Amino acid sequence: MIEKFIKNEQFNFIRKQVAWIKDSTKQHLPPGVLASVYELSNEKISNCVTALTPEQKELMDFSSFKTVEAYEQALEQLPNYLLAFPTISEQQLKKLFPKSKKLKLPDLSNIDLHRLTYLSWNDSRSNKKYILYKLDSQLVGIECSFSPSTKKNICSICHCHGEVTHFSTITKAKKVNNPDYYKSIGNLICVNSTECNKNITDVSYLEEFLRESLKK
Ligand SMILES: [Zn+2]
Repeated sequence: MIEKFIKNEQFNFIRKQVAWIKDSTKQHLPPGVLASVYELSNEKISNCVTALTPEQKELMDFSSFKTVEAYEQALEQLPNYLLAFPTISEQQLKKLFPKSKKLKLPDLSNIDLHRLTYLSWNDSRSNKKYILYKLDSQLVGIECSFSPSTKKNICSICHCHGEVTHFSTITKAKKVNNPDYYKSIGNLICVNSTECNKNITDVSYLEEFLRESLKK
């Protein structure tokens, strides 16, 4: 049996490569140009997950495919190898957010944990947003404030255009010109985090934001 090895954001990345191939194939490009699109995508796909077993490597080797159908069939197999978001107990949650005594986990029964890069939910009574993520193999969580008003813009987490809201969190760092205040950092995030998780292909901004927020 092949062990699961693909993260949600990596799957999204591969899906985007296949979509690019599909689009390019429709565009009647000169054969040489189309061949280089295929080649470039194959390379990106085979390099997007590292430290693979020979069997896993084979699953990520799209280089022999000549048709869009072959790519789509290979892509359809990949959800079987998706890693699930870690399960969280109420106790763990209390440890992550010791100040939020009444905090409850969201209902996870309708959420596919294999399609999550991060878990986020809102407590609309307090306008608080919670984000959980496995950072350097450790589950971390931050509490943010979010604005109840939404607008159409680019989400800073998934870099896609959609309905977003402003969120911010207080860090431990003091403001440079006003040492009485802690620095607050924030940005725009998709209102619908299930959609955001379906679009995210790169975790660098999310990780940078979490590192900055968790800085002691
Ligand atoms: Zn997003």
